[in-house]
Amino acid sequence: MLDLREQLRALQAELLEATREVLLSGRYILGPKVEEFERAAARYLGVAETVAVASGTDALHLALRALGVGPGDEVITTPFSFFATVEAILYAGARPVFADIREDTFNLDPREVKRRLSPRTKAILAVHLFGCPSDMPALLELARRHGLRVLEDCAQAFGATVGEQKVGSLADAGCFSFYPSKNLGGMGDGGLVSTHSAELAERLRLLRNHGSPGGYVHEEVGYNSRLDELQAAVLLVKLRYIEDFNEARRRKAALYRELLADVLSCPVEPQGLRHVYHQFTVKVPRRDQVRECLRRKGIASTVYYPLPLHLQPALRGLGWKEGDFPVAERVARQVLSLPLWPELSEASLREVARGLRQCLKQSS
Ligand SMILES: *Cc1c(COP(=O)(O)O)cnc(C)c1O
Repeated sequence: MLDLREQLRALQAELLEATREVLLSGRYILGPKVEEFERAAARYLGVAETVAVASGTDALHLALRALGVGPGDEVITTPFSFFATVEAILYAGARPVFADIREDTFNLDPREVKRRLSPRTKAILAVHLFGCPSDMPALLELARRHGLRVLEDCAQAFGATVGEQKVGSLADAGCFSFYPSKNLGGMGDGGLVSTHSAELAERLRLLRNHGSPGGYVHEEVGYNSRLDELQAAVLLVKLRYIEDFNEARRRKAALYRELLADVLSCPVEPQGLRHVYHQFTVKVPRRDQVRECLRRKGIASTVYYPLPLHLQPALRGLGWKEGDFPVAERVARQVLSLPLWPELSEASLREVARGLRQCLKQSS
């Protein structure tokens, strides 16, 4: 599904130099590389502040905490995402409330969010799934009218835009992951929160470092959640190329769409949004049959995600049941993600498209 080796070969000299510098500096936690990376990321994203943390999951958890989300609060989010989205809400002590998604973008449907509002709703957590921005104008308007906080889960969407604005700059906080396979990937775990608020950033800096501004004085009980210097050095190198990586992903996606136009209805690119194709995800009938057919041809594919969050065994206690979110449930039965990464060769891509065509015909 993903081969990072070509990208690593191309960046080898720069990555070795950057990591060598850190190794020899003797500073590994909260040093100059993290500060430099935070400034560079803030400039790129168009926000006043970013705070680097240990993972995307922590970015979500700490941002929720810093925004004052806690016990007694409800957070509305999508049932169709990676599990960490809902874990973070539960870590914060709040109650996740799901709202169904749109069939075309796989993202939250603002009309469904509106239906799920209650007097306890405190925040909306929108996910830009597979690299496609959620309908932020509608969600922000809803939040404004009801006095809610809005968070963006940008783990799969570094560099995606809504109009001229980068995701992560549109709401109260943007939460990013640098897990190696993400569009901006490190060489281990890492995450970041972006915000326009200096106050929120200060709170996040406390939370990520045991609630301490330094000097072994602890203003609150926090966490150990810091990005390390080695990851920051790697990410600083890769950040210089993120536009190239994302443009390459978009060109590959355009070619898939061209080759498969007559057999596929998605992914769609809503007007005015820049989709960065963390995944190229199609919907196919008899998905499991199609996937098996591809496998026999030696073509990789993955199902992100086979089970919506409200049906996950770990969340049984929350009382959701089959039929509660029909669109998410239907989509989970049909989605199939095809290989797509910046260095994927055009020949391989054409082979995948040809294989998919054959498999669709065979399974019909
Ligand atoms: C990867 C991911 C996360 C979690 O990020 P980690 O860095 O792995 O903790 C959260 N939400 C979504 C949508 C993701 O894809």
